[in-house]
Amino acid sequence: MGGPLWRPVVGGTLNTASLIRLFERLSVDDMRGLAREFDRSGTVSRSAPTRPSINEMARTTVDGLHRQGLIGEELFDRLAEMLIAESDEVERVRCLWEIQWQADVVVRTAREDVETTARTLVENVKSQLAETEEALRIAVQHASHRARELNEAVERASAIERELSELQTQAGALLDGIRTHEREAQGIIEGMRELTATESASRERRREEEPDLFDTGDVKRPQMNGLLWPVGATITVTFLDGSDDQHELVRNQAREWTKHANVDFEFTADPDAKIRIAFDPHGGSWAYVGTNALAIEPPHPTMNLAWVEQMPETALHEFGHVLGLIHEWQSPNADISWDVDAVRAAWPHMTDEQIQFNVVGRKSHDDYPDYREFDPESIMMFSIPSNFLLEGDGFTPSKQLTESDRAFIAQLYPDDEGHET
Ligand SMILES: [Zn+2]
Repeated sequence: MGGPLWRPVVGGTLNTASLIRLFERLSVDDMRGLAREFDRSGTVSRSAPTRPSINEMARTTVDGLHRQGLIGEELFDRLAEMLIAESDEVERVRCLWEIQWQADVVVRTAREDVETTARTLVENVKSQLAETEEALRIAVQHASHRARELNEAVERASAIERELSELQTQAGALLDGIRTHEREAQGIIEGMRELTATESASRERRREEEPDLFDTGDVKRPQMNGLLWPVGATITVTFLDGSDDQHELVRNQAREWTKHANVDFEFTADPDAKIRIAFDPHGGSWAYVGTNALAIEPPHPTMNLAWVEQMPETALHEFGHVLGLIHEWQSPNADISWDVDAVRAAWPHMTDEQIQFNVVGRKSHDDYPDYREFDPESIMMFSIPSNFLLEGDGFTPSKQLTESDRAFIAQLYPDDEGHET
């Protein structure tokens, strides 16, 4: 529906209620438009409506409408009745204007409010955006800061990793050193096996049964507690386990002695061989001294070599025991200034008796009246650190036979011509 509000009035069918509503909604311009319409049809005057004449104009309009038959008798009467109360009606129209004006104000205010609200909103959004931007900028700064920190952390971590790996290497070296010391310590403790009472009895039985296996005593040579093999003896040796490489290494080491001693080692597969060698890596390195080995029943080993690949000289040392040699530091001629407290502290698991027997105590001149002069570098010596001594620099033995080792073993097993190599 377009056009002026009063358009339905002309030619339309109006009832009372809709006409009243219409008038209530008419603005001044609408009134003027309606007046012009009736003027054209000669029904109303040209005079412009003013506030006092509004009622008049309405009355004229209503008359015109009635005259043209546009409104019925009943409506005409009601409108006429309404228009009689002129002053009320003027007041009503003024109210309508007032309402319109207020509506305008309301609309204007509302528009202003909307604008203000919109502006505020825009400002808010802008400010929020700015805040967000700032927050983002800070976040980016933080992120890049964190990234730098992370980088530094990664660098630190890799530096630490490098240090760790170096430390590991050092720790490994230290561990190797400790193991070597352990071996040496164990060697000191276990290097020379002594017989139990039962074993001693068994040895004596065997001496009675097979006297040829023992020192016959008819050759002049140093006394070695009765543990030497007969001069020229063939001592059978077998391996209870171990690899070909280990066997080869042991054979070579053993032969270093027989180059100078008038005895022979015969390596055999016979499980009853006199010397029976095991390679238990956890069993330490040890051997029975001289013919004490004969007191041990097969298949028990008479020698164990726990670390012969790492320290081949161990085999050389143990075969020194096999031929009757004792530890050089326990020689009746050794004079080592042991710090017994330091030894005790280093090996808390050893009893004082064990420390005396295996470490600091010397063998007696009665058992070994002809022992050689002390040889600090002998293969029968072990590393003794200076902190085990009350004075002196400690001992570092040779890994091969010393001149004294060669000379002494030749004395113990002289060849038939009596010469010493
Ligand atoms: Zn030993």
